[in-house]
Amino acid sequence: MLDSSMSTTPVFANYVRGEWVEGPTFENRNPANTDELVGLFVKGSASTVEEAAAAAAEALPAWSGMAAPARGALLFKVAEILEQKFDQIAADMTREEGKTLPEAKGEVRRSINIFRYFAGEGSRMAGHIVPSERDRVQMFAIRKPVGVVGLLTPWNFPSAIPAWKLAPALIAGNTVILKPASVAPLSAWRLVEACHQAGIPKGVVNFVAGSGGELGRAILEAKPLKAVSFTGSTEIGHWIHSEASKRRLKIQLEMGGKNPTIVLADADFNSAVENTVNAAFFSTGQKCTATSRVIVEDAIYDKFLEALVARTKKLTVGDGMEPGIDIGPAVDQGQMDTVLRYIDIGIKEAGSPKCGGQRLTGCSYDKGYFVAPTIFADVTEDMTIAQEEIFGPVLAVMRAKDFADAMRIANNVPFGLSASVQTTNVGRVFDFIHQMEAGLLTVNLPSAGVEYQLPFGGTKDSSFGPKEQGPAALEFYTDYKTVYLKY
Ligand code: NAP
Repeated sequence: MLDSSMSTTPVFANYVRGEWVEGPTFENRNPANTDELVGLFVKGSASTVEEAAAAAAEALPAWSGMAAPARGALLFKVAEILEQKFDQIAADMTREEGKTLPEAKGEVRRSINIFRYFAGEGSRMAGHIVPSERDRVQMFAIRKPVGVVGLLTPWNFPSAIPAWKLAPALIAGNTVILKPASVAPLSAWRLVEACHQAGIPKGVVNFVAGSGGELGRAILEAKPLKAVSFTGSTEIGHWIHSEASKRRLKIQLEMGGKNPTIVLADADFNSAVENTVNAAFFSTGQKCTATSRVIVEDAIYDKFLEALVARTKKLTVGDGMEPGIDIGPAVDQGQMDTVLRYIDIGIKEAGSPKCGGQRLTGCSYDKGYFVAPTIFADVTEDMTIAQEEIFGPVLAVMRAKDFADAMRIANNVPFGLSASVQTTNVGRVFDFIHQMEAGLLTVNLPSAGVEYQLPFGGTKDSSFGPKEQGPAALEFYTDYKTVYLKY
C-alpha cells in the first residue's frame, strides 16, 4: 500500500529507488479548518536525500538511453492516471492548500496537460542541423540530458509547479529528486504516485518531503547532482544561487514578484475592474503572477477606486470546498501572520484600508487562516507595501499622471515577473510590451493565469537561468552535443 490507511489518518511515505520509505512523520493540515489533518508525511533527512541521489544516478544510464518516444509513452500514462483520479487530487489540493475547488480542478487539468505536452516532446526533441562550409561534412547538435536534477517546489501551485519541472526533466532523460513544500506536499506526492503506477523505472523519480533547510542543503551537496530547479521566495533563491554556484551546478530560479496592472483612462472600465480583482484576490493573492499594485491613470482614478472597492466587497471568503466561495484562506499561520504584518505596515504608511484590513473571525473562520481582501489607496512608490512582495490578498492602488508615469512606477521595483495593461490603445499596448521590465505580460487580461505552451519566467530579482515551460523548458533540462562528421 502506498499510503497506509490503517489509522484514519493516511501516512504518505517518501519514494526512493522505487520503494516507499517509512519513518517519523510531520502533519499536513487543512488551512481552512485546522482541526482537519489531511495526512502525515514521512519526514526525510539528509541521508534519505543521499540515498535518493544515489538511486537517481544508478537509474540514469538506462533512462537516458531509452528512446525518447518510449519515455513519452510513460508520461502519457502518468497523465491518464491523473485523469482517472482527477476529483480526488483536486479535493486533496483544496484541503491542503486552501484554494477553491474550481481553482484546484483547473490546476489538476493543467498538470495533466503539462504531462501530455511533454510526453509529445518525446517525439520531437529537436536539435539543430545546418550545412557545413566543408565538403562532405555533416554537422548537427543533439540534445542530451543534464543528469541528476534536484527539483524544489513551493506550496502555491502544489501540483502544477512540480508537474512543469518533473515532466520536461523526465522526457529529456534526466532522473530527479523532488522535494515539495512542507505545507502542501500531497499534490506533488500524487504526481509521484502516478509516476510509480505508470511504471516509470525505479530510481528515475525520487521524492523526499521534509525541512527545506536540511533537505535543500543535502540536495545541493549531493555528489551526483548536476542541476537544480527552484521555485519559491527570492531570499531562498539567492541562497541557492550562491551555494549552487560553488559547485557550478546548472540552476533555474523562479522567485518573487510585485506585479503591476496598469489601468489607462481609455480601458474597457468594467473589464479592467474585473481583471484587477481577479488578479489581486483569486487564489487568495497567493499566485506568483498576482497583481499587488494597480497603477491607475489620474483621469479615472477616483471612479476606478470606488468600483474596485465595491466589487471586492462582494467577494466571499471561506472554505474552498464549499460552493460559491471566491477566496480561501492563507496557506498557514506563518503566511497569514506575514500578510497581517504587511497590513499593519500599510496602515502606518497609507492610512486605513478602503476595505478589509483584518483577519476574519467568528464561526467557522476561527478554525482557519482567513484574511479579508484588503485595498490600500493612494499608495506611493516609496512605501514598503509598494515595494515588497506580500503574497496575500492585499492590493496597493497607485495614481499615475499619464501612461509614461504609469510605466515608470510599474518598473520601479526590484522584481520583474508579470505585468498587465488595460487599454484600448494599440500604440500603448506595444509601448507597454517593449518598455515593461517583466517576463510575462498580459493585455486586457488578469496579470495571472498563464498556460504551459510558451516560456514562463521573469526578469530582474524574480528569475535566474533558462525559462520554464513550453519549448524553453528543454534549454534547462538538456545540454547540446555538437557533432562534425566527415563522410
Ligand atoms: P520558499 O519558502 O522559498 O520555499 C520553496 C521551497 O524551497 C520549499 O520546498 C521549501 O521547503 C524549500 N526550501 C526552504 N528553505 C530552503 C533552503 N534553505 N534550501 C533549499 N530549499 C529550501 O517559498 P514558498 O513560501 O514555498 O513559496 C512562496 C514564494 O514562491 C513566493 O515568494 C512566490 O512569489 C514564489 N513563487 C514564485 C513563482 C515563480 O514562478 N516565479 C511561482 C510560485 C511561487 P519547506 O517548505 O520545507 O520550507
